[in-house]
Amino acid sequence: MSLDAGAIPSGDLGKLGERVDAMRAAIAAAAREAGRDPASVALLGVTKGQPRAVVLAAIGAGLADIGESYLQEARPKYFGLPAVRKHFIGHVQTNKARAIVETFDVVQSIDRIEAARAIARAGRGIGKPVRVLLQVNVSPSERFGFVPEEAPAIAARLRTDEGLEIDGVMAIGPPGGDRAGIAAAFRRAAAAFEGVGGSTFSVGMSGDWREAIACGSTMVRLGTALFGPRPAKERRKPGDEPARG
Ligand SMILES: *Cc1c(COP(=O)(O)O)cnc(C)c1O
Repeated sequence: MSLDAGAIPSGDLGKLGERVDAMRAAIAAAAREAGRDPASVALLGVTKGQPRAVVLAAIGAGLADIGESYLQEARPKYFGLPAVRKHFIGHVQTNKARAIVETFDVVQSIDRIEAARAIARAGRGIGKPVRVLLQVNVSPSERFGFVPEEAPAIAARLRTDEGLEIDGVMAIGPPGGDRAGIAAAFRRAAAAFEGVGGSTFSVGMSGDWREAIACGSTMVRLGTALFGPRPAKERRKPGDEPARG
């Protein structure tokens, strides 16, 4: 398999820097509009479906946080990169916990107790402290995630029982163009974040990052808005499940 076969022709990679800069400016403007400090919103580049060349170009363009939802895809692509924070944003399968912890620095998609336990155990096993976020479910089309109102108690329990560093909350907004519905979903996730505590409220994707910033997002996760459309067929392997297809 060639790691360099992918969406963005290499000639366009140089333009990625411009897109990252333009996106940062747009994010900063949205933050100011919401009465927030632009520095309080981090940009996570979602590289799923993109080749390693794009990952390297993104890092070259100054992205400090990158993320993937498919472990099998990320493993070769994220191997031996310069120092950036690598975020796992896909569904955690407990039998892959060790590989996830080896590959990523932050697991944003802790969506059930067994996933938290498996990740905590894997971290202890290889002596690597893992930062995690609790994924809360605020969308009728989402399969995964804790009930937002239950997340604070779950976080407290996991911190005590597993010694996990739970640094906040992640959520995926509802699809479709109902802007008010999207904002309501993010507000519900924001209330969960307030109860869970931590530094990271990871909401907002290419279609809904403006609403997310208005609702307090401290990290938007952008794929297509930064890198263009993903190839129609993502290199999904059997048993490697996305948080969202
Ligand atoms: C794919 C994905 C993203 C990025 O989606 P875009 O719409 O391309 O910005 C963000 N978060 C999660 C969990 C994803 O699976």
